[in-house]
Amino acid sequence: MATSVDKFHDECGVFGVYGDANAMQLTYMGLYALQHRGQESAGIVVSDGEKMIPFRGMGLVSKVFKGTRVERLNVGHLCIGHVRYSTAGASLLKNAQPFVAEYSRGSIAIAHNGNLINYNELCTRLEDEGSIFQSSMDTEIILHLMARSQKLKFIDTLIEALKQVKGAYSLLVMRQNALIGARDPNGLRPLVLGKINNSYVLSSETCALDLIKAEYVRDIEPGEIVIIDKDGLRSIKPWEKTDNNFCIFEYIYFSRPDSVINGKSVHQVRKAFGAQLAREVRIEADIVIPVPDSGVSAALGYSQASGIPFDYGLIRNRYVGRTFIQPMQIIRDLGVEIKLNPVPAVLAGKRVIVIDDSLVRGTTSRKIVGLLRHAGAKEIHFGLSSPPIAHSCFFGIDTPNRKDLIAADASSEQIRKYLQADSLSYLSHEGMLKAVDSKEVAFCTACFNVNYPLKFNYKQADSRLPKKIIDEEQLELV
Ligand code: SF4
Repeated sequence: MATSVDKFHDECGVFGVYGDANAMQLTYMGLYALQHRGQESAGIVVSDGEKMIPFRGMGLVSKVFKGTRVERLNVGHLCIGHVRYSTAGASLLKNAQPFVAEYSRGSIAIAHNGNLINYNELCTRLEDEGSIFQSSMDTEIILHLMARSQKLKFIDTLIEALKQVKGAYSLLVMRQNALIGARDPNGLRPLVLGKINNSYVLSSETCALDLIKAEYVRDIEPGEIVIIDKDGLRSIKPWEKTDNNFCIFEYIYFSRPDSVINGKSVHQVRKAFGAQLAREVRIEADIVIPVPDSGVSAALGYSQASGIPFDYGLIRNRYVGRTFIQPMQIIRDLGVEIKLNPVPAVLAGKRVIVIDDSLVRGTTSRKIVGLLRHAGAKEIHFGLSSPPIAHSCFFGIDTPNRKDLIAADASSEQIRKYLQADSLSYLSHEGMLKAVDSKEVAFCTACFNVNYPLKFNYKQADSRLPKKIIDEEQLELV
């Protein structure tokens, strides 16, 4: 049985290397750094120039590639990898990525971060025309569309397929001798280009480049496709018009704080969110504490801007991972108590401002308030470094249906009462955009203001998105 998770969930992470004899090992390390983007399955496909060798499994990177498996796959200079948290399709091995397919033009492997919102429509059409799908993953649709293309050049089949799908994708495509990276025309999910010696690297985040000591070159642009092969790197932009709707939640929560996105440090942006919240909401208090780890950067920013001392009033148990399947009822019942422990020496008798990045269902935050009170806090002021979340996401983020989002219908005062906090403060929408301070990049902020960047029947989708099927046997408490 799955416990409900009181956070928006990361989607997936992709990583690929072209031109390095240790491509497999570099990809393995890259996936390690991207583990926060998906913990349900991991996979790698390596090319030796003639054939592709896939290896995929359920669970964390360390489990999937344990022992000598990594060395045995170290056979080529070209490799792509994927970590997955299922936002579409069940949590089953058949849905683990990268996908590999053989078709009339040869072998192809594909790794996808995002979500295709017209999947159901395209899938129904293709099945009516005779296609048989091997998985319930939206990514597979791209392979089917490519296989049906009448275009002569491989890259044109990919462009034709991508022009038929709608939604968010940061995509890695591998042929026996080429690595291709593509970002959707709205640029919803991140994808960066790096270099290590004379080899190219594509990654969801720069933290993975840092781990392998690769240099960050630039972000792949919205609607850009880069082709990396023996002739070097070529960039094409097949869309007449591209928009910039980068997911602002990558800054708020999803990306690692040590990553740089669109040239901005995620940690610094989070600190700016906290500082802006402190400027918007003045509270008399003795200490500022974060909900670890997601609230640490914003709490630091809040503390520095307000002059109220920062401290650790909650300690996270490092050995309870983000995996949401708990094997024993007694542990499921404990919930947040097993993950977070209050520090009475810091909290007793104090007026406490506790900072978290966002409020989704509110159930965890209510428990946190209870923990802090039990530890002796005199006042508890809950601060969020983002505005109220009132709408679901359809772009590769696992979110509850709208009715389960606490801010969808309740007022701030009703939510404060539910949390049993002395006050509740959200960062304003304007304040959030001011803190990001970006002239070059525009943002998707739809989960706050329903301003979805693509035309789609979101109301209908909210009620019909498939519920995930979780196979308990395949996941473990970490
Ligand atoms: S709806 Fe929210 S989580 Fe989804 S892409 Fe937009 S900003 Fe990101």
